[in-house]
Amino acid sequence: MNKRKLGIMTGCGTTKQPRHWSLGLLGSMEDPESIVKKTDSIVAIRDKYPKAKIHYLILPFENINSIHELNLTHIPLIEEFGKLYQELKKEHTDSTLRAGFHAVPSMQRLHMHVISTDMVSPCLKTKVHWNSFTTDFFIPYQDVLKELKENGSIKKISSELHKSLMATELVCNQCDFKPKNMPQLKEHLVTHMK
Ligand SMILES: [Zn+2]
Ligand SMILES: [Zn+2]
Repeated sequence: MNKRKLGIMTGCGTTKQPRHWSLGLLGSMEDPESIVKKTDSIVAIRDKYPKAKIHYLILPFENINSIHELNLTHIPLIEEFGKLYQELKKEHTDSTLRAGFHAVPSMQRLHMHVISTDMVSPCLKTKVHWNSFTTDFFIPYQDVLKELKENGSIKKISSELHKSLMATELVCNQCDFKPKNMPQLKEHLVTHMK
C-alpha cells in the first residue's frame, strides 16, 4: 500500500489545514485516482478531507490563485465550472449538492467546492469547518458568476466580517436546531439521513 492510501485511511489531517495540503492540491490535480472529471482546462477531484458524504473540488489548470484574481476574461472558465457541477449533480440524484467558493481562499489554486448538504463526515470536526460551508463564507457558484459578470471582479470581505462569520453560533443547516457543540451537531446531522 502506498503512502497516499495510508494517508486517506488515517483520516482527515490536522484541524489546522497543513501547508502540505495546499501544495498537495496541485499534485491531486494530476493524480488519476483523485480525478473524477477532466476537460482541457479544468478538473474535478475528490476532496482529500471531505466534509460531507460527497465532496469534490473543481480547479483550473491555469495558474489562478483565487477568486480575487478573476476578471471578465475568466467568465467562460467559470461557466465551464458550472457545466462540470451540473454533470456531477446528474450523477448524484439521491443527494442534494451545492457548489461555491470560500470567501477567503485557503489554498494556492482557485477551487470551487461541490458538496452534499448532509455534512456527515469524520473530517468535519470544528466550528470553523462548519461555518466555512454553512454561512455566507460559502459564496454560491451563481453569486460568483453574477458578481464577475456585473463587476468584472470578486470583492474581498473585511477581516471583521470574516471573523464574525467564523464565530457564528452553530445551527443545523437542515432545521432550526441549535446544538451546544460540534459533537452534538454531528450526532444530530445523522438523524437527517434518509
Ligand atoms: Zn476551499
Ligand atoms: Zn437539523
